[in-house]
Amino acid sequence: MTKQEVLKKYFGYDSFRPGQELMIDSVLAGRDVLGVMPTGAGKSLCYQVPALLLPGITLVVSPLISLMNDQVRALNDAGIHAAYINSTLTETQVAKALGYAAQGRYKIIYAAPERLGTYEFSRLANAVDISMVTVDEAHCISQWGQDFRPSYLKIPDFVRSLRRRPVIGAFTATATEEVREDIRRVLELMDPQMLVTGFDRKNLYFAVEQVRQKDRFIRKYVREHEKESGIIYCATRKNVDRVYEMLRREGFPAAAYHAGMDSQERRKSQEDFIYDRKPVIVATNAFGMGIDKSNVRYVIHYNMPQSLENYYQEAGRAGRDGAEAECVLLYSPQDVVVNRFLLDSKEGTAELTSQESAVVRERDEIRLRAMTTYCTMTKCLREYILRYFGETEVSPCGNCSNCLREYEEEDVTDAAVVIMNGVRQLRQRFGINVLAGVLRGRDNAKLRSYGLDRCEAYGKLEDMSEEKIREIVNLLLQEELLFMTLDKYSLLGVTAKGRTLLRQYEASLAGRDGAEPVRLILRSAKEGREREEKGAAAGRKAAGQRLSEILTSRGLELFDKLRGLRSELAREEGIPPYIVFGDKALIDMCVKVPLNREEMLDVSGVGENKYARYGERFLKEISGFTGGKKEKLCYGGYAGEEAVSFQPARPRKRQGKSEFFLTREQADSFPYRERYATAELAEALNGLVDGETVKRITGKAILQYAQNLGYVREQSVDGQRKRTATEDGRRHGITMETGAAGTAYGELYYTADAQRMIVESFVAEDF
Ligand code: ADP
Ligand code: MG
Repeated sequence: MTKQEVLKKYFGYDSFRPGQELMIDSVLAGRDVLGVMPTGAGKSLCYQVPALLLPGITLVVSPLISLMNDQVRALNDAGIHAAYINSTLTETQVAKALGYAAQGRYKIIYAAPERLGTYEFSRLANAVDISMVTVDEAHCISQWGQDFRPSYLKIPDFVRSLRRRPVIGAFTATATEEVREDIRRVLELMDPQMLVTGFDRKNLYFAVEQVRQKDRFIRKYVREHEKESGIIYCATRKNVDRVYEMLRREGFPAAAYHAGMDSQERRKSQEDFIYDRKPVIVATNAFGMGIDKSNVRYVIHYNMPQSLENYYQEAGRAGRDGAEAECVLLYSPQDVVVNRFLLDSKEGTAELTSQESAVVRERDEIRLRAMTTYCTMTKCLREYILRYFGETEVSPCGNCSNCLREYEEEDVTDAAVVIMNGVRQLRQRFGINVLAGVLRGRDNAKLRSYGLDRCEAYGKLEDMSEEKIREIVNLLLQEELLFMTLDKYSLLGVTAKGRTLLRQYEASLAGRDGAEPVRLILRSAKEGREREEKGAAAGRKAAGQRLSEILTSRGLELFDKLRGLRSELAREEGIPPYIVFGDKALIDMCVKVPLNREEMLDVSGVGENKYARYGERFLKEISGFTGGKKEKLCYGGYAGEEAVSFQPARPRKRQGKSEFFLTREQADSFPYRERYATAELAEALNGLVDGETVKRITGKAILQYAQNLGYVREQSVDGQRKRTATEDGRRHGITMETGAAGTAYGELYYTADAQRMIVESFVAEDF
């Protein structure tokens, strides 16, 4: 069987998502891989497909029991023999499973990391042929990560104990360089094929709402999304109980989940949610790790989380099936105070040296600030997240609450300069409260005792509200003209960039030649309360992917029927409905209206095994509905899985120009040459497209692409950061000019092979 056939037969999908093939091919060629892909991107297939093609067993190390059980159930349902070995099994069951494994009954075995050290396990490991060891959620190996699990450190020992070294695959959604490096080092990966795919989840709509009445917002939102499944995250157990009670009183079927409940209650809540008995769950962040429910249509955060890492992970539980979903964060300034309090009270309890805990505290503080910036800024939310996770080639998305909101702009240059001068005069000894007091000329003993009532800035912004001063300070922090110390005092200072700006401002006031005028613009949302009335998605652009925009009312009717059938089958078999079929498969059925086996197998998510189990009953339901005839139940323009894939360049029109992409024709007319330098290559690509409708590609984007594939890497050469081609890159035709002594020069060239690879990567086939 080919990998393509495996994909179709067992998983029911027609095409791989970007990156999956690269990972699969590398594993099949015997090369280690390190895949960094966001939640929902499809990491599992990267090791499950090769597992079926490799001669021996694939061992998957996974940290969470619920995750393991879920995946194994899904695999067996797809007709793949798999088992898990963890603490939910009795000793006899473990022995039995290991026995079957020794007989070669399973292709894939999931194991908790603690198991690796046991005698039975290592005996088994050496009795069978292990082709691949996959480390899922590989960031758990990093001591700096939030989810460090000491038992993960057993993995390298285990691998070393094997007769033959298997291929090692590591997968994670945590992107920071620090963690990536840890994974490579600790797992002793050998020249791994790297893949970092876009962290952008295009089907997620992001919003931050600063509403006065969060409860009212929730009630309205839940009512408007009555039939949809959603998660409401709260920071505290108390809030969970309160919000849950509120929804219950209003008659919404909701479940609650937090660590204060006993394990039985928690299990019941979780199952009610997963089995779609209760569409909404109100929970603390204790809920969700390893929950693979694919049809979560929204995630609301009642409070601001402590970091963007947490936020993106939790919000990312929405829309795993690739269909549109919403992530709404309800922000209030109080959240920052609470979070800082939590950080401060953490300090005493940690079992770290004081130096270590200072480092940790500082990192937490940086994270909290980034999270706060996300909630208070006016720029594109998606762009901010992606930059935070290390992507460089990003621009405003045109489809988040900030991009869609209307703003009032105000030139605050003069006040900003007064504020910066004020900060300078306070000589980095005070925080924002004192600063605001000084600027507004407050008359109090503290200021007088420090002699601040005599400083030049005193009373300079007498008429400005404290809130406004804070807004401008925030703007200056975001623009990196001011900084705040990372200790708990949060003292303000002027950055080097800020000092330059102040000089420039004075030069232009003095009318000196060539002095550019300085302008600082404060943007504030136009509508205040109005948005609360309209709800989160007010003004949001139709993305063409909401169910009611895909299916006609007859189509929706069929969808409901299929959903009913799915629940019935799930009940019969005692498995969650989404394991029978995901929402997307049901939608695709309503779009394609399959009437026979062949047509049914063409539906996304319907593989042969699934067909054998459920195909007939769904066919019967569908033909019963349409009277055995074809019927069009969708609007035009729905492109199925394709439209929600994670391709780097999608020809999606937003705000005028689309991202750079090539049609087949344009790609074929590319002027191939013996070699191009990066900038020349970008030029040649831009020469192919209409600059009026398509954004230009930059050399930097090309380098980033090559870097993501591990073909190019940034390196320190003679004390300078330079990009050089890796060995792998050279194999793919990326070459480097070398200087006299054979030193790397830094200029990269692309042979015709490399040119072709890059040109092809920009082709959008559906054009
Ligand atoms: P991750 O582990 O990266 O968070 P999963 O492996 O759980 O993501 O996959 C998320 C969802 O995407 C699953 O429902 C999976 O079946 C689906 N999926 C993965 N690859 C493909 C593909 N090539 N085509 C369609 N759906 C896919
Ligand atoms: Mg996964």
